[in-house]
Amino acid sequence: MTVKQRLWCVQVPKQSGEPVRSLLVGMGAFERDAAVQRDDDYLYFPVKYEIDIRDQFPDVKLLQRDFECVEKQTFEDILGFTPSYDMIGDIAIIDADDPDAEMIADAIIRVHRHIKTVLGALSPVQGEFRVRDFRVVAGEPKTETVHKEYGCQYEIDLARVYFTQRLATERKRIADQVGGGDVVVDMFAGAGPFSILAAKSAREVVAIDKNPVATLYLERNARLNRISNMRIICSDAADVAYNHDLAHIADHVIMNLPHSADEFLDEALTIVKPGGIIHYYDIREEDDLFDGAEAAIKDAASARGMTVRVLDRRIVRSYSPHQYNVVLDVEVCGG
Ligand code: SAM
Repeated sequence: MTVKQRLWCVQVPKQSGEPVRSLLVGMGAFERDAAVQRDDDYLYFPVKYEIDIRDQFPDVKLLQRDFECVEKQTFEDILGFTPSYDMIGDIAIIDADDPDAEMIADAIIRVHRHIKTVLGALSPVQGEFRVRDFRVVAGEPKTETVHKEYGCQYEIDLARVYFTQRLATERKRIADQVGGGDVVVDMFAGAGPFSILAAKSAREVVAIDKNPVATLYLERNARLNRISNMRIICSDAADVAYNHDLAHIADHVIMNLPHSADEFLDEALTIVKPGGIIHYYDIREEDDLFDGAEAAIKDAASARGMTVRVLDRRIVRSYSPHQYNVVLDVEVCGG
């Protein structure tokens, strides 16, 4: 069964069809449930959201048209309610303890035809390496996938390396601040989603993680995304500044270890160069979203005779009913 639906689409001169289609598929923007349209001069590729690729293909146009779409079943049709779940690549993640886990998993596979596996999370993100335990609830028995985000691809084993798709916008916000001559040090890089996107604009990125499996995926993801300006270090971030010649080199230091970034402030202040910015992530209670974190940064700086200026402070996402994942962008002014 098909239905008519008004969708965003990219109008492409016929001769540029294939490279544009590949780009849209690579970005995860191509709408596979609608049929591509054509006339004498143009192809019309349906897309999932409003997207601007004119910097790469100046002769394309974004417009809206009616498309014949495969009629999708909704969660309401199948379950009578909409479950909560995450999607990373072709894997969906649900709560393993949900009494309806099996039913929800089957519904996810029916609604999202690209999902091959549904994992049930048996634990919260935990331990030094911030990973979760899973059981396979439905589909292929695997925990490895490839996730696409802002034109980059990330190969990840979700049972061995931290990853969340919920920080996509935040990673783009940081990458947008990175200039062509900048050095970026990502102290807790995981499989590389901050590092690789930043490396597209930076002069050099240094990506650090203590989890050897994370650095293995960092290497794979650098290759997958054709990144050649990234240095990967498997180490405790507490020991890197002098052991790896990183003292005062960074225009941007990314500290995405929200529960304990404060323990690494001294090292970050060694790595950042005067005028550089530390992007500091924290999990905060709703009644003290920023002030405690700001005080920790200022104390660490003043202990070293440095001053800092808060450029931005914002909520990245909610973390639990009364807790928020926040970020402070802090310029380091003296030392
Ligand atoms: N930035 C990545 C992302 O957004 O997907 C990963 C963030 S995850 C919250 C934190 C990462 O820090 C994990 O990959 C973990 O292995 C790493 N980590 C934890 N303690 C560390 C330490 N002392 N030194 C370096 N890396 C560490």
